[in-house]
Amino acid sequence: MRLSLALAMSLVASSAASDFLLQVPVACSVGADCHIQNYFDHLPSEAAQDYRCGALSYDGHKGTDFALPTLAEMRAGVDVLAAAPGVVRGVRDGMADVRHAPENAAAIAKRECGNGVVIAHEDGWETQYCHMRQGTVRVSSGERVPAGAVLGKVGLSGKTQFPHLHLSVRKDGRPVDPFVPGGPMDCTAPTDDLWAGTLDYQAGGLLSVGFSDEIPDYAVVLDGTAARTDLSTRAPALVLFGLAFGGRAGDVMRLEVSGPQGMIFVQDVILEKTQAQVYRASGRRLTESQWQSGTYTGTVDLLRHGMSISRKTISIRIGTE
Ligand SMILES: [Zn+2]
Repeated sequence: MRLSLALAMSLVASSAASDFLLQVPVACSVGADCHIQNYFDHLPSEAAQDYRCGALSYDGHKGTDFALPTLAEMRAGVDVLAAAPGVVRGVRDGMADVRHAPENAAAIAKRECGNGVVIAHEDGWETQYCHMRQGTVRVSSGERVPAGAVLGKVGLSGKTQFPHLHLSVRKDGRPVDPFVPGGPMDCTAPTDDLWAGTLDYQAGGLLSVGFSDEIPDYAVVLDGTAARTDLSTRAPALVLFGLAFGGRAGDVMRLEVSGPQGMIFVQDVILEKTQAQVYRASGRRLTESQWQSGTYTGTVDLLRHGMSISRKTISIRIGTE
């Protein structure tokens, strides 16, 4: 009896530092069909640095941004989930899903979070969810919610330029980075983060790849509607494109296309600067009378120091057989 009590006591003591745990607040697989675009900024200067000393942050960013690859996934609908059990302390809905630009800054002044929810948890913890899709917030103030409760959907409201959920975590009103709740980052993977599961750091990766018969406009790529599902044998060009996040100066985006008769092209595009999101495309014009019908495969790699850190492959049918 005494032994089991002592054992129970020591278990409580050892877990006390991490009693408050967070579940992933989006209903998507982070690292597969959604990604973390920005982490908490740990630098007091105008520069920004995430907890792994990478550039996936921006000055003054006191939250974690769970992003969808394109607007297409936002339209399809991805749920925002309560990260922990608690009581809803505030909600806002009704703001439009509009990509932020200087001309609409006045319209969202003091409402940069957009449509959102605030939840109070035990022991002075609080979470806030921002940029939700207009008309989807489905909880109300005073409501008690379990972890994983659907709060609404990922959107583009407030001060944001891409569809994502911004999650703020606070303890007694103070912003906390859930990846390093104990203090400043030291560039390594922490052992005491607030996540109930494992949330690996992804230092960039491919978001979407596709074929087209022309170089698609960037806006159409971000919309998620640039990829063609089939092409005619008389298509004027065969273009492969890739959209990636976390691109660094010196990275290479390798675009490779093969068809029924083998390799058509491999193009290495060197990224000249570090950019939150990177779009590149490469193609070949039709030089014969027509493309041979059959299946064509495109592979896009994001290479860092010569190693692939992310790869996506796609196939397209040309002509009919
Ligand atoms: Zn954010």
